[in-house]
Amino acid sequence: MNTDYFEWEDYVERNLEGADLNFKEALHLFDLPLPVIGRIADEIRRSRCGELVTFVVDRNISYTNRCVSRCKFCAFYARNKEESYVLSKEEILRKINDAVDVGATQILIQGGLDPEIRIEWFEDLFSAIKREFLGVQLHSLSPPEIHFIAKNEGMSIRETLERLREAGLDSLPGGGAEILSDSVRKVISPNKISADGWIEVMETAHEMGMKTTATMMFGHIERNEDILEHLFRIRDLQNKTKGFTAFIPWTFQPKNTELYDVIKEPVPVTRYLQVLAISRIILHSVRNIQASWLTQDFDVDKLALFFGANDFGGTILEENVVTAAGKEHKPAKVEDIVKAVKSVGRPVAQRNTEYEIL
Ligand code: SF4
Repeated sequence: MNTDYFEWEDYVERNLEGADLNFKEALHLFDLPLPVIGRIADEIRRSRCGELVTFVVDRNISYTNRCVSRCKFCAFYARNKEESYVLSKEEILRKINDAVDVGATQILIQGGLDPEIRIEWFEDLFSAIKREFLGVQLHSLSPPEIHFIAKNEGMSIRETLERLREAGLDSLPGGGAEILSDSVRKVISPNKISADGWIEVMETAHEMGMKTTATMMFGHIERNEDILEHLFRIRDLQNKTKGFTAFIPWTFQPKNTELYDVIKEPVPVTRYLQVLAISRIILHSVRNIQASWLTQDFDVDKLALFFGANDFGGTILEENVVTAAGKEHKPAKVEDIVKAVKSVGRPVAQRNTEYEIL
């Protein structure tokens, strides 16, 4: 019997006991062969979540591409005035109407950081959405946007969240986290919220009873140690607040970004699966780990269901950010997701934003 055998059982047990791995133990995971990492993550997923794979019917709406942050990994923001846009309230409502017509329950509204868009604009929009579409869950505005609105209005994070929640905001998506290590952020997004700032927004939302997700974008300049710093920050906050419903790791798409000069290709599938599995092993208190068909493809996502993922994400009826970085986007149909999951022998069900089965 080789040592890997003992190691995988030990990692599963530690996870199910809710034990925090220390940095050295976690770093060792990167040295294990991919099938071993996959086996550990798959055992944990099975014990924690069972066989059921879930998905949500959703639409992403990017309200503006005007952004003062100009992150080096971003292909989405407008490079000049001619390219820039801000969607009108009517246009956004029309997009939501189209999404609701095909069964969407979740709307993810996100955009650039634009000082001319004031908090009243969001309040007006959110309350109009809630008036017209009662059942829709507004899973919108990532921590950098909340932080930016607060600063722009001279308000605290809590006041900002309270006003937006009052207008109809239900929960926050975990975007803008990239890698929660300031040494990485200083290079790829020097004008954006710090790692502490991102955590502060999430902690405040959780304290107010708002649920959020968390993401991680890897495959650029980060080291394994930076990935662990990120995962440990998410884990530590989750141990404290229990406010994260899911974790979604996804890979950097370099085309049309400033980083393209140094990084030409996304990382290989094996690296994606490795990081996905390690996320499942370290984040013992985050129940749902989401596969990212937006940056991978359906076949990789099917594999991801055996590397720790229990959720297929959303149908994503519209997407602009990853698409701008050269990744082709075709919305998934519910039938496509159901067929893909069933083809690997797993049961599948539609969920809402809070992971309740519909
Ligand atoms: S990632 Fe977001 S904050 Fe950064 S430039 Fe793009 S739109 Fe702006």
